[in-house]
Amino acid sequence: MLPLETRLVPEDFEQALAHGDVGIALQPLVNLRSGNVVRLEALARWQHPVRGQIAPATFIPLAERCGAVTSLAFHVLRQASDRLPDWRQRVPDLRVAVNICVQTMQDPLFADRLAAFLKCNGASAKWFDLEITESTFMHEPERTLQAVEEVRKLGFVVSIDDFGTGYSSLGYLATLPVNAVKIDRQFVTPMTTDHRREAIVRATIALGHDLGFEVVGEGVEDRETWELLGALGCDVAQGYHIARPMSPGDVRSWLEVWDPHLAAVRRPRLEAARRASAHGARSPRHVLVADDEPAIVEMIRDILEEYGFRVVTAANGSEALRLVEEAEPEVVLLDMNMPVLDGEGFVAAVRARGLRIPIVVMTAGSSAKRWAAELGADAYLSKPFELASLVDVTKRFATSGSG
Ligand code: C2E
Ligand code: MG
Ligand code: MG
Repeated sequence: MLPLETRLVPEDFEQALAHGDVGIALQPLVNLRSGNVVRLEALARWQHPVRGQIAPATFIPLAERCGAVTSLAFHVLRQASDRLPDWRQRVPDLRVAVNICVQTMQDPLFADRLAAFLKCNGASAKWFDLEITESTFMHEPERTLQAVEEVRKLGFVVSIDDFGTGYSSLGYLATLPVNAVKIDRQFVTPMTTDHRREAIVRATIALGHDLGFEVVGEGVEDRETWELLGALGCDVAQGYHIARPMSPGDVRSWLEVWDPHLAAVRRPRLEAARRASAHGARSPRHVLVADDEPAIVEMIRDILEEYGFRVVTAANGSEALRLVEEAEPEVVLLDMNMPVLDGEGFVAAVRARGLRIPIVVMTAGSSAKRWAAELGADAYLSKPFELASLVDVTKRFATSGSG
């Protein structure tokens, strides 16, 4: 039988580990506010002589079946700790995150073996972050909790991985002694086009912060997701938008070219805007209309332009956020129900950036007043509104070219 047609068995993995066919790839995690690289996640890679690279989804179950996951964990730790001092010359506080399986957490000697590993390799626990999946915590919660406490006592940082997939109860979560939660990429990757996932991400960030955890979003594949996560107050991002997993040999040069200032795309523009206002620089001012209903946007634009206002428009909160920084409007007319980032999220993001800009809430009927009060908005317009009210309220906050 040809090797390709035979199924891989657990012994194949054991041999690969012994023969040095299992290596690591590293993927950066970046702070969303500063743009700094905070750690590298070490991901196991099996380079099979005939089949080529084999994915963890295939070989982790094999490793579990032959009881090799703990050997794998130490194999990964060792490879990372060999290279880390070099990478730390470039980024002094850099850590490596290592994935730990449920079986390993259940091993009563794990903490002792970790301590021995540090000693033998001249490594420090502070260099590492141990990622434990949410489902691990659900499996023998008592034992896992005890193990987490043991490794934290040694000085390791602990994160909950793939958060949102493990059905842990909120009560249990509140008792976990961990440093960070990583929101699973099934929620993060589609969040800019999927309202419900965005709601889950937003709620998880708030919950994580209330419990004192750092919050990481994994699976950030594009700039929109990066910006939305930042606007929602998430702390750290990981994903193809920043970098794909890379070989250890490529890490140093990647760290050399990574520019935190370019990464934190919002920051330079925001600072420029603050500087300009500090020096009293006058730039053309606008009214920003944020509403996902094109007919309403066009109607408002027509009226306000007739009265001499300069109008910029956005179809969602994320676009509006960008325009607040770029166009420096004098007032925002804000619809509450919008995709990507809704009115509430927009206001939270504006406040989080320390921007003080008048906001007029526009929504249906009596809820406009309630929203305005809740968000601390400056005024409201109940839809459908009289054109005269629109012009009046706009005049309170913005200057028109003609008047
Ligand atoms: P994980 O710990 O959640 O690791 C993140 C996975 O998401 C990695 O897949 C990574 O390549 C992938 N990923 C990162 N950014 C993106 C993105 O923007 N889009 C998409 N679609 N994917 C992204 P990988 O390397 O295939 O690892 C899969 C899982 O295998 C890991 O999930 C982890 O649970 C497990 N694993 C990997 N290495 C090890 C290891 O050394 N030990 C143990 N126990 N498990 C490992
Ligand atoms: Mg992980
Ligand atoms: Mg994960």
